[in-house]
Amino acid sequence: MSTYVSAALRRQVVERAGDRCEYCRFPQRVTFLAFEMEHIIAEKHGGTTTLDNLALACPYCNRAKGTDLGSIDPETNRLTPFFNPRTQTWQDHFTLSGAAIIPQTPEGRVTVLILQFNHPNRIQERAGLLAIGQYS
Ligand SMILES: [Zn+2]
Repeated sequence: MSTYVSAALRRQVVERAGDRCEYCRFPQRVTFLAFEMEHIIAEKHGGTTTLDNLALACPYCNRAKGTDLGSIDPETNRLTPFFNPRTQTWQDHFTLSGAAIIPQTPEGRVTVLILQFNHPNRIQERAGLLAIGQYS
């Protein structure tokens, strides 16, 4: 159960995010799915319901991340935190190859893996958006 996020705070998060998922960059405007207020550090780990700990996330990313903070990087076998949209820059950690999101760093690798950025259905959806200029 999550703490209530006020309409004003929610609006600030959405605006800052440019109305797109801050993890997979899926734009909210092209979907009927309601994007979610994601706690970067989950409340169970002490994360607060404040602007600096909230991110806009699509339901796919939010559900896959859950309350996790990171995972084991398959290349280094080290416990590695997820990409943090508040303190890190997306372009430093990911790049697009066609419709696939390719990780560039350990944080990128665990994020792509656990948040399932490149599930076939999501690649297909992203390819459709790229084709009509709605994803970048
Ligand atoms: Zn997403």
